[in-house]
Amino acid sequence: MGQKVLIIGGVAGGASTAARLRRNDESVQIIMFEKGEYISFANCGLPYYIGGSIEERSALLVQTPKAMKDRFNIDVRVQNEVLSINKDEKTVSVKNHISGETYEESYDVLVLSPGSLPLKPPIPGIDSPNIFSLWNIPDTDAVKGYVDTLKPKRAAIIGGGFIGLEMAENLHDLGIEVTVVEMANQVMAPIDYEMATIVQNHMRNKNVQLYLEDGVKSFAYNEGVTSITLQSGKTVEADMVMLSIGIRPQGELAKAAGLAMNERGGIVVNDYLITSDPSIYALGDAIEVTDFMTHQKAMVPLAGPANKQGRIVANNICRRKEKYHGTQGTAIAKVFDLAVASTGMNEKTLKRLGKEIGKDYQVSIIHSKSHAGYYPGSTMMAVKLIFELDGKVLGAQIVGYGGVDKRIDVIATALRYGGTVQDLTELELAYAPPFSSAKDPVNMVAFTAENILLGKTGVAQYYEAVGFDKEKTVLVDVRDLKERERGFIEGSVHIPVNDLRERLGELDKSKDILLYCAIGLRGYIGARILKENGFENVRNLSGGYTTYSSVYCGPENSKDLNCVNCIGVPKETADFNESGEAK
Ligand code: FAD
Repeated sequence: MGQKVLIIGGVAGGASTAARLRRNDESVQIIMFEKGEYISFANCGLPYYIGGSIEERSALLVQTPKAMKDRFNIDVRVQNEVLSINKDEKTVSVKNHISGETYEESYDVLVLSPGSLPLKPPIPGIDSPNIFSLWNIPDTDAVKGYVDTLKPKRAAIIGGGFIGLEMAENLHDLGIEVTVVEMANQVMAPIDYEMATIVQNHMRNKNVQLYLEDGVKSFAYNEGVTSITLQSGKTVEADMVMLSIGIRPQGELAKAAGLAMNERGGIVVNDYLITSDPSIYALGDAIEVTDFMTHQKAMVPLAGPANKQGRIVANNICRRKEKYHGTQGTAIAKVFDLAVASTGMNEKTLKRLGKEIGKDYQVSIIHSKSHAGYYPGSTMMAVKLIFELDGKVLGAQIVGYGGVDKRIDVIATALRYGGTVQDLTELELAYAPPFSSAKDPVNMVAFTAENILLGKTGVAQYYEAVGFDKEKTVLVDVRDLKERERGFIEGSVHIPVNDLRERLGELDKSKDILLYCAIGLRGYIGARILKENGFENVRNLSGGYTTYSSVYCGPENSKDLNCVNCIGVPKETADFNESGEAK
């Protein structure tokens, strides 16, 4: 008989450790404890079962204890909760919730993959019967049962992160009126503000009510309706409430056993995913990882890392000595018709680390088509690339309708290998008109970044087009008249790019010239014309009017700006022809 390995937690990290362990070694004795009723279920699919895109509940149950036994000879014990770990004796104490008995089990190696739990802060009224969290199959059954039988008309989602917004979409698909309440000034924390405004505007176009920079003060339940009082004093009435305000690691067992923990309750592990006890491994949502880009310690609760860590833990138990090299936080979510994706660092992280745009890093935003515009069905995507001044790529964010997943994965791959802007310009990516353009959006964003690095043009961000000093700066709109008539930036002069050469005399060479067009393409061409004609301080507005209007023409900013030219909540990211002109 080989080693005896006990695994706590039977879903993402636990189940993948168990299966890999068996594939590595037939002689290991493997026992997997799961306190819930189900193992290896599709957490990430739960919102889609509630919304009806996944029709069969059984599709969520990827593995059963019997199948794990038959295929992998793993002793799976569901409804068996590990209550404590005695690391000196190398035993665990287990409560069998079916029989009620408590028993001890010994181990040579122990693996902890207990995951995390949704946060439930002590807000008055939070235990009301129509307030739900979504984390496992029983939660799913409760939400689905409530929705199917009581047919709620109004739902409030507290928290605008991935799960909150997936639930917003799925409840909306069921014909329920949805309100989202988010404490931060934007939804989707992993992306930056200007990218999040695209998502917010899209949600508003779907008639989702959004309350940003507002938290819940209290819940009051009365006859099936919960009245939610927000910190601002506003109230929202809902027939059901979904709480998705964050999670905390399930680190209690490890802490009680005396294992090293971080200040957020996460289990500390080394590069080999071994805890402070050499016989105990840990992985998944419960552990502290190293951020692949910042090299700082972080907690990153994602399924991909948990599954990959399971493989590494199993290999290391079988004496392979494999390192986990860190988590870069690549993520994607579907929010109504949009895909929202990110990888690596965002600007918020960089600012937290004391980094400054222009000094330590630069940003390029483009709006690009998912495939050649002349082939039917192309859609727009906004791509934001963040890079160091020596060209190293730090992170990317993409929001769009199609082809977002492959572009973010290309950039995520480049990040893994320390890729630079120049590397991205050189990538030879698959092209035929139905799939991409001869210059893929990844190449395009890299070209614009390279132009910035080479000094072909200066770059300005959307916020620099607001409240600028008119004595020092001239803001030039280089779009066509018909585009300008649909809305323009306050204080800009209008010189279409094709007229620029003849009208150079209207611009003062001693001033900063800030150009903008619809998406940044004609702004760049204009900037090159001016540079070649002796203008020194010329900058192009990154992402053009599209990024600007996404931020400033949504309700959260238009009031402050008193933006008379406001086009309202942009209907969708507008469509553009091959020259970057808004149709
Ligand atoms: P889990 O998979 O949660 O497994 C932990 C298990 O341990 C639990 O079943 C728990 O009951 C059990 N356990 C805990 N303590 C004990 C004990 N003492 N004894 C016995 N058993 C115990 N990630 C993505 O990357 N993409 C997505 O699209 C995505 N969508 C998600 C949607 C939802 C609704 C949810 C809930 C999560 C989603 N995630 C997504 C996150 C992803 O599911 C987690 O990061 C991943 O499951 C973590 O794996 P884990 O093994 O650490 O924990």
